Formats: sequence, C-alpha cells, structure tokens
Amino acid sequence: MSWETVVGLEIHAHLKTRTKMFCRCETGFGEPPNTRTCPVCLAHPGTLPVPNRRAVEWTVKLGLALGCDIPARAVFHRKNYFYPDLPKGYQISQYDEPLCVDGRFVVPGEERDLEIGIVRAHLEEDAAKTVHVAGAGGRIVGATRSLVDFNRGGTPLVEIVTQPDLRSAEEARRFLQLLRQTIVELGISDAEMEKGTLRCDANVSVRLPGEDYRTRWELKNMNSFSFIARGIDAAVRAQIALHEAGEEVVQETYDYDADADTLTPHRSKEEAEDYRYFPEPDLVPVEPARELVERLRAELPELPWARIGRHAGELGMADAWALVMTEREASYDGLVEADVEPRAAFNFAMNQSIPPNADLRELARVVKEPDLTRAGIERAVAASANPGFTADEFLAEKSVSDTAELEPLIERILAANPGQVEAYRGGKEGLLGFFVGQAMKETGGKANPKVLNELIREKLKA
Ligand code: ZN
Ligand code: MN
Repeated sequence: MSWETVVGLEIHAHLKTRTKMFCRCETGFGEPPNTRTCPVCLAHPGTLPVPNRRAVEWTVKLGLALGCDIPARAVFHRKNYFYPDLPKGYQISQYDEPLCVDGRFVVPGEERDLEIGIVRAHLEEDAAKTVHVAGAGGRIVGATRSLVDFNRGGTPLVEIVTQPDLRSAEEARRFLQLLRQTIVELGISDAEMEKGTLRCDANVSVRLPGEDYRTRWELKNMNSFSFIARGIDAAVRAQIALHEAGEEVVQETYDYDADADTLTPHRSKEEAEDYRYFPEPDLVPVEPARELVERLRAELPELPWARIGRHAGELGMADAWALVMTEREASYDGLVEADVEPRAAFNFAMNQSIPPNADLRELARVVKEPDLTRAGIERAVAASANPGFTADEFLAEKSVSDTAELEPLIERILAANPGQVEAYRGGKEGLLGFFVGQAMKETGGKANPKVLNELIREKLKA
C-alpha cells in the first residue's frame, strides 16, 4: 500500500528584543543564573505585565512575511499549568485571538512550489530553564536535584503553527530551512537550533490516498533540521508498521533520540491537556493600527522564497537555493549587475570569499577575463575592497596561452635537458611534471597550465 506522510509543524523562535516580553529585564544568554530577573518575571504578588511594543511589531512583521492576515484585535490569554519553570503558574500566551492568522508560505521546488498553510503566529513568553543534576543526559529521570534559572523566563517567543500540508520529512526540512532564513533576514531572531532560539515540534501521521487524517503523534525535543527529518521518518515507519499489523495508533507525544534513532514516550507537564485558558485580565487587547500594519508591510524586503524563484530561472532550483542560503548572494547580484553571465557569477561568488564591501563592478572585469592565473584572481579578490581598487594591474596577470610565445621556451628547456627527454621517451612519463615545472618557473607562473601540458607532450612525442 502507498502510505502518504502528513506533517504539520509548530515552531517557536526567541525574538531578539533587548528586553523581555512583559518586564524591563534584559534578555541574554550565557549570563550567570538568575541575574536577569525582577519582581515581574519572578511573579511577585502585585506586579503587573507591560507588553514589549517591539515584540508585537516584530510578530506582525513576521506574520506579514508569512502571508497572514493581521486581525484588528488580538488578545493575550493565560495558559495555566503547574511547573517549577513557570513562577506565575501560567504562561501569558495567545489563544483564540492571535496576532496573525491564515497565512500561506511558498517553498519553491524543483517540480512544483509547495504552498504551506499557516494557521497562526502568536506571541507569548518563554518559561525559565530547568537543569536536572546528576541524571543521565540532563534528564529528570534519575536526577538528584533540579535547578531553575529564571534568566530565560519571560523572553518573547513567537509561535508559528502550520497546516498539516507537508508530505515528507524532506519537505518539512526544506520548509524549516526557508522559514529560518526568512526569520533571520527579518532581523527579529537569531533562530539557532543549537542555542535553543529556534525550536520545532512535529505532528506526524500517515494515511492512504484520499483518506481523512488518521491519529497523529507529536514529536518534541529535536534540536537540528536533520534530526527533525529523521524523527519524522522514524514515526512514519513505526505508524505504517502498526497500521499494517492491524494495530491501533494511539495519540501520543514522543521524544526522538537521534543517537539510537528511536522514539521514546515524552513525560512532561504538557500531558495535562486542560490549560484552562482565559483572557489575561492585566492586559488590554492589542489593536495594531492599520497604518502600522501597512508601514510594516511596506518595509518588508524581498523575501528568500521570492529570490529563490527569481534566481532559479538563471541557475536552476538547487543552485538558487544554495545561493540564497549562503551569504554569497549579494556578491552574485553585484557581478550579474556588472554584466557577468549568471553561471560564471555564481561559480565565482561561491568559490571565492569576496569581501563584503568589494568593488564588484571593478571585480567583474577580472571575472570576465577567462585566462587569468589562479593566484592572480585570488589576489584581485583580496584587493577588491581596498580603496581605489582597479582591475587593471590584475588583468595584466593573464596566463600565457599563446603557443607562439610558449613554443620557443619549451624547445629551449628540452634542449637544455637531453637526459630527461631521453628518459621520458624511454617510458618515464612522470617527467612531464618536471618540464611543466621548468616552463612555469621561466614564465613566473603565468603560463596557462592546460596549454603548457599539451604543448610539452606534443614536443616530447616528436
Ligand atoms: Zn523581569
Ligand atoms: Mn507555545
């Protein structure tokens, strides 16, 4: 039977605002524990939250980049659960009136573009960080003590929920890669999975073609794009095996253990499914002014999905992705603007580390010259950011491929080394390198190696 994979993702990204979501503590990582706290984020009685204006604006901006509608009114809710990392006993989050709804995110693809529905993007505060001591792998099971660091508590988090529109682990990986690039380019988050500033949970199920959705599993705690893809694949394999054995797939939350490639049931606070959401009485609804929304929309740069689509026409889809996902794109664009043919510009930009402030118009003259020595090109690239950089001196470093110029030189070298010539003709073909080396030395490294090789080989045959 041909099972179809069905995946929806829930992504959390830390916003890199200077201060926390509802107090004036500075955000920050790697500080000594519990040094970035105040009565508000420690939930002292009588304190009141004040929303971070920039976090609201950035969430709206992200929502617009994801093609979302921005409703005229959004509401903060209390999501109640009891856990030591949550001193208030609830997380301020959003429930049925989030900041951003009904988006659509395009992921350009080889055969067709994916269009991934975005259910919502909302703003909330992060919990504190718990550290379990002396347990295996920092887990709570077997730990002798648990410590809480409240520095992270109250950091603004944007949560993005997709429709179950992804049809493979590979599609999920691509979507995430592009979403991350978009978030980073908007300048609102570093979105680094290793540092925990980007986290992703996956809802995974399988079904037969034409069927409605079957029971899903939720996968948590996967901390790299490739682990997410492998976790999804592991869940798909396990579910297909259960279905085909006629067994029931029970709704469950799992952790993916990448080392063992296995799924283990997740023990957590999230098992209590009733969060008793109710509107946060200490905060008025957020009503983003239409002028603000339109200003943020107008400020959006050309987004990665659009640039990939634009470059794909010239470079093909795979290289267009590679270009947009690296920091070489600006160099590429500058070279193409200076009339370098796209393929040549791509190869040059990807292979050379062009300084960010290079004079690309001038450097383009170097790229367009096919016969420069490799050393000359590298020195030109290194010099391209110098004030007053000119390609002229490097254009003079053309490799010599003029046979009329090289032939007499080669003849001189062969005449000066009769012993080596005889040995070569007697079968020691490795000596070709010796002759090439001599000729290179005499031309100061400027001979075109390909032409030189051919000429010498020819002369030795004679
Ligand atoms: Zn605080
Ligand atoms: Mn959340």
